Amino acid sequence: MSTPPVDYLIIGSGIAGLSLALKAARHHSVTIVTKDRLPESNSAYAQGGIASVWDPEDSFAAHIQDTLTAGAGLCHLDVVEAVVSEGPERIHELIALGTNFSRRPGSEDAEYDLGMEGGHSHRRILHASDATGQEIIRALIAAVRQQPSITILEKHMGVDLLTASGPSGSECWGAYVLDLETNQVKTLTARVTALCAGGAGKVYLYTSNPDVATGDGLAMAYRAGVPVANLEFFQFHPTCLFHPRARSFLISEALRGEGAILRRPGGAPFMAQYHPRAELAPRDVVARAIDREMKTHGFPHVLLDISHRDADFLRQRFPSIFRHCLEFDIDLTKEPIPVVPAAHYLCGGVVTDLHGATAINRLYAAGEVAMTGLHGANRLASNSLLEAVVFAHRVFCHAETFLAIDTRTPPAFSDWNPGQAVSNDEMVVVTHTWEEIRRLMWNYVGIVRSTRRLDRARRRIALIQEEIRDYYWNFLVTGDLLELRNLATVAELIIRCASLRRESRGLHYTLDYPETNDQHWGHDTVVELDQANNHTAG
Ligand SMILES: Cc1cc2nc3c(=O)[nH]c(=O)nc-3n(C[C@H](O)[C@H](O)[C@H](O)COP(=O)(O)OP(=O)(O)OC[C@H]3O[C@@H](n4cnc5c(N)ncnc54)[C@H](O)[C@@H]3O)c2cc1C
Repeated sequence: MSTPPVDYLIIGSGIAGLSLALKAARHHSVTIVTKDRLPESNSAYAQGGIASVWDPEDSFAAHIQDTLTAGAGLCHLDVVEAVVSEGPERIHELIALGTNFSRRPGSEDAEYDLGMEGGHSHRRILHASDATGQEIIRALIAAVRQQPSITILEKHMGVDLLTASGPSGSECWGAYVLDLETNQVKTLTARVTALCAGGAGKVYLYTSNPDVATGDGLAMAYRAGVPVANLEFFQFHPTCLFHPRARSFLISEALRGEGAILRRPGGAPFMAQYHPRAELAPRDVVARAIDREMKTHGFPHVLLDISHRDADFLRQRFPSIFRHCLEFDIDLTKEPIPVVPAAHYLCGGVVTDLHGATAINRLYAAGEVAMTGLHGANRLASNSLLEAVVFAHRVFCHAETFLAIDTRTPPAFSDWNPGQAVSNDEMVVVTHTWEEIRRLMWNYVGIVRSTRRLDRARRRIALIQEEIRDYYWNFLVTGDLLELRNLATVAELIIRCASLRRESRGLHYTLDYPETNDQHWGHDTVVELDQANNHTAG
């Protein structure tokens, strides 16, 4: 089923997709497709905040340097400079939309309260107490809902991109989109398509990400022939709440910024043994230290203790975390919180240039789905929301210029062909395979890797993909099956990138190559369709 073409098709409704939609809607028609309800995204769960130079004592140079240090030699300097220097302007726009960032105690127009997080040399994290993402998304959604030129399609899932060859190479003209409520695949054509589909935490057994984060955007771009890069750099958040009933609830790094101490279950602190900045070390160092403590001593978890701080301060500064822990009978003002690491943020992604443009004309990517070059081998805390808003703006600027010059409308595309497919009643196979991928990735491609484990993972994923292919062509597509196929692709791509990088750097740590090797590996790991064993410097 085809619908009339629009100017912008935006896949995803997190901070990147909504920010872009609002700007694009000033002069053009926009359709947002989103897999769940509008607010459901990684963005809405962001707690800590958004990093930006705000304090007069702080400087762009310091933020740039902190980002480069975290990125361990792989950040693209031009991108870092652009994101850091354009950050304050983008945040002023969020404030103008009505985002209420927390202010220092005092009057309503007191200065903004700037948080401190691991890896930052200054207080520069604007936050809305400990639910920053929720507040930003609230303000963006309120504004988007007032725009008549934006069509919102909830419970609609991007399946595959529509591409055709054009005068200067391959072009993207929209996407096949599955209506998850009717199970009908629609053909949505657009003059510009933006992938804002977020991350892929669900590829691991333990993750801080919500269910929508299955790497769909990454897999769609890869299948269309767009290079993807640096997928070995998956950031594991050091501290997710460990409780049999708690579902991936993150305990913000801001707690460590405010003095929380990591302890063994017996009470002994351990971070000083791993890094001179102890609890304020970059998060990968903290995650690896916890992983090591758990594996060496057989602990099921470690403890995060902030009970020495004033109880009123803690209740005011971390209201959501306080309330959530209390639901599990943990009073953080009085006792330590049991925590484990969990897959959190994908630094790599769809390769874009400085404008968010991909290798396919008319196709852009912004936010967590993209590899812009900002994060390099490791993300500095709270730089991802910033990257998403800065790149949403950059995509907007580039696409507007492009649309003004190129006035062509989409060609005709044939509707999705369901073939001979019959309804799939073998849900158990999908569920089983899904679990298998996530456990395999956790055990073999997790925080600490080795060549043997990666080889084993690669062989197993290849078999799983064969089974999924079989399934894919024999049954009607469903959201679950599409997600499973995408997760398997993302797993394969992470394993390929990790196998190519024969060194340890940033978030990628392998027992077989524990040293950093700048001479051979000081570049991005880029992989493309049908080039399974090749990589090129980015
Ligand atoms: C618990 C948590 C805490 C975090 N805290 C911070 C923080 O304090 N500071 C910070 O900077 N970063 C933080 N992050 C990271 C940050 O939230 C994300 O990197 C950022 O929000 C990504 O924004 P996005 O718009 O790219 O993607 P998302 O916000 O994830 O949005 C992706 C959207 O795409 C949709 N989608 C996915 N696949 C499809 C498909 N096939 N079809 C249609 N729609 C699709 C999803 O439903 C969703 O709407 C945190 C992340 C988590 C999970």
